[in-house]
Amino acid sequence: MIRTVAEMATLGGGDLGFVPTMGAFHEGHLSLMREARKGHEKVVVSLFVNPLQFGQGEDYERYPRDEERDFALAEAEGVDYLFAPAREEIYRRKTTTICVPEVSEPWEGKARPGHFVGVATVVAKLFNIVRPEVAYFGWKDLQQCLVLRRMVEDLNMSVALRFMETLREPDGLALSSRNAYLSPGERELAPELHRTLVRIAAELDKNSDKAQELTAKGREELFLKGFQVEYLELVSLVDLQPTTGVGDAALIVASKIGTTRLIDNLRFGALTG
Ligand code: AMP
Repeated sequence: MIRTVAEMATLGGGDLGFVPTMGAFHEGHLSLMREARKGHEKVVVSLFVNPLQFGQGEDYERYPRDEERDFALAEAEGVDYLFAPAREEIYRRKTTTICVPEVSEPWEGKARPGHFVGVATVVAKLFNIVRPEVAYFGWKDLQQCLVLRRMVEDLNMSVALRFMETLREPDGLALSSRNAYLSPGERELAPELHRTLVRIAAELDKNSDKAQELTAKGREELFLKGFQVEYLELVSLVDLQPTTGVGDAALIVASKIGTTRLIDNLRFGALTG
């Protein structure tokens, strides 16, 4: 376990695959580590619950933390270094920040003001400390992928990004550290999010001009089942704006179940891999 930026910086660089995380590992995290392990001499995983990407009243304090378990899981995947710095090690004072325009603004950006500034800033700092050749992220956080892709392009960062498919429970619920917050009843309901996206996608395959009608119906169905839906839309994968065609598009959803906020998405073409 590496605790300091200084030590991590001496170990970074070269043929290195990097997986940034906030810990509480599940199979989704492990799949990114496996992919990195296949492609590189060295694999670094960071574990840092980044205060800068949590808003007021969000779950920074209660975010699940289990460093010992995470260390054992990363070690079992053949990860070379787990970088787990303390908060003060990353933020020694009020930090310079990175604000990615446009793709940061809608959806998660609106629901969670400042979230993507926090994400972009910490990922840029981690890239500078670790100096990876390739960094691995999950499509589960689709808007995050687009924000980071834009940051790397705009700031000419010399790192390649690879985005990996979402791992799911057998009933379709996307793996997430936040699933731990769900009560048994909420956990039973939660896979409806994914099922709704799959249903809409199947309908869109037949009637590609019915996006608005189908997403509105999906929102209504989820509401009636007890979800507090924030958005459910068909968006372009280029600019994240609502679109009507399924080419280069994704269905994205965010909803609360009780007090737990879940997100999911379905990219077109992703149904069959
Ligand atoms: P987090 O610890 O939630 O910040 O996630 C760390 C990385 O794992 C991010 O790139 C996520 O997109 C990715 N990730 C989270 N959930 C999944 C999942 N179910 N399948 C694949 N990757 C995931």
